[in-house]
Amino acid sequence: MKTLETLTFDNRFARLGDGFSAHVLPEPIDNPRLVVASPAAMTLLDLDPAQAETALFAEIFGGHKLWAETEPRAMVYSGHQFGHYNPQLGDGRGLLLGEVYNEAGEHWDLHLKGAGQTPFSRMGDGRAVLRSSIREFLASEALHALGIPTTRALCVIGSDTPVWREKQERAAMVLRLAPSHVRFGHFEYFYYTKKPELHAALAEHVLNLHFAECREQPEPYLAMYREIVERNAELIAKWQAYGFCHGVMNTDNMSILGITFDFGPFAFLDDFDANFICNHSDDQGRYSFSNQVPIGQWNLSALAQALTPFISVDALRETLGLYLPLYQAHYLDLMRRRLGLTCAEEDDQKLLERLLQLMQNSGVDYSLFFRRLGDQAPDQAIATLRDDFVDLKGFDAWGEQYVARVNREGPVDQDQRRARMHAVNPLYVLRNYLAQKAIDAAESGDYDEVRRLHTVLSKPFEEQPGMDSYAERPPEWGKHLEISCSS
Ligand code: AMP
Ligand code: MG
Repeated sequence: MKTLETLTFDNRFARLGDGFSAHVLPEPIDNPRLVVASPAAMTLLDLDPAQAETALFAEIFGGHKLWAETEPRAMVYSGHQFGHYNPQLGDGRGLLLGEVYNEAGEHWDLHLKGAGQTPFSRMGDGRAVLRSSIREFLASEALHALGIPTTRALCVIGSDTPVWREKQERAAMVLRLAPSHVRFGHFEYFYYTKKPELHAALAEHVLNLHFAECREQPEPYLAMYREIVERNAELIAKWQAYGFCHGVMNTDNMSILGITFDFGPFAFLDDFDANFICNHSDDQGRYSFSNQVPIGQWNLSALAQALTPFISVDALRETLGLYLPLYQAHYLDLMRRRLGLTCAEEDDQKLLERLLQLMQNSGVDYSLFFRRLGDQAPDQAIATLRDDFVDLKGFDAWGEQYVARVNREGPVDQDQRRARMHAVNPLYVLRNYLAQKAIDAAESGDYDEVRRLHTVLSKPFEEQPGMDSYAERPPEWGKHLEISCSS
């Protein structure tokens, strides 16, 4: 285990040079203090979790001190926001401090969000508020624990620095970790600004560092695009299966690695609602829960456009065509598991669709339904869950089909079935109201609740003694929280 002083850096992205990023120093926040740290994320850097308690930790991640080997850079990129091309985005409030490499030989980008203004800040103040930093931290670590690919979060550092949003708030910084911070929007930037040399250098950098196995293929860039399509199909299948709504799927928020990236007004579904819009500013519902699937394809086609200098249009088109079938296969596979089914039958899709329709019309809690379905033997579970549905006749018919479907797989040992289902059906999810309670306490200076919630969510499938209240449906006040885009 290492201390902060002994981390080793190898800043490969910074070495690409000034065409890719600008050198900017972090602007410190006042009276920096640890709000929460993730021991699991710290071990990715071989960093001893006890280091989080040191004064140096809050000083570094509050922007006061830096390692001599870091080269803080603000990256330039562009992207399609709500379907419209924005030619100039970039890190407006985050800095890539450098890349740490661990003993396993992995590189991790250290990205400090809320680090002050950069050449890409446009009208923004370069800051992040405490509430959005806590939300990003909790979501990254919770998604990871659910098995959903995501950027990680090392810590949140709070401060006394005032920041103006709708009201006065306090600035915070979140330290994000990822193997790469390259977004779809990076490729779009060099494509649309017509900088072929830099564009080619970016493609080579990403291929060599992050898709090395594709170099063995006859067409390495095509193989890389295919891998990106596959990873995104799988990622979005996981979002849909676990009721995660990202909220701002602009191409500048899409990672080239196919991991969940840039958390804003995200939400996990409480009641199942295919049309749920978690982003209060998304009037058209472009990024509604069910639209995430076609938007994934839209974003991959925007990326394909930016890759046309390297890959033929026909090959790109054909590869993009793999997205939907791959998505559907992953999604159905995950949902079969959530239903406790162990083999595939042709009508499973219909069985699932009918269930979601019934849930939609009755406002059934999405996560708890699957958890409870595994609690008891199928027929008993159905009898218990029945009370949550309005269309009783409809649900009874579904229940009969479901029990028959399970029985066709042969005799079931209920203990085994429960264990199998509970391993894929979380008891604890990051409900908006849980995050809000933790944020309210943190804003008044009490960080216990954020830390407790983080701990509970780091083992979402395991029942934890004394933590029943974290598995409950939202109270009335917590059902329709409006999460604004300002963060
Ligand atoms: P987001 O909606 O968080 O993905 O951000 C979109 C763009 O706005 C990115 O280029 C961000 O860096 C930039 N941005 C967001 N908030 C701020 C802020 N407070 N100050 C400067 N830039 C910001
Ligand atoms: Mg963003």
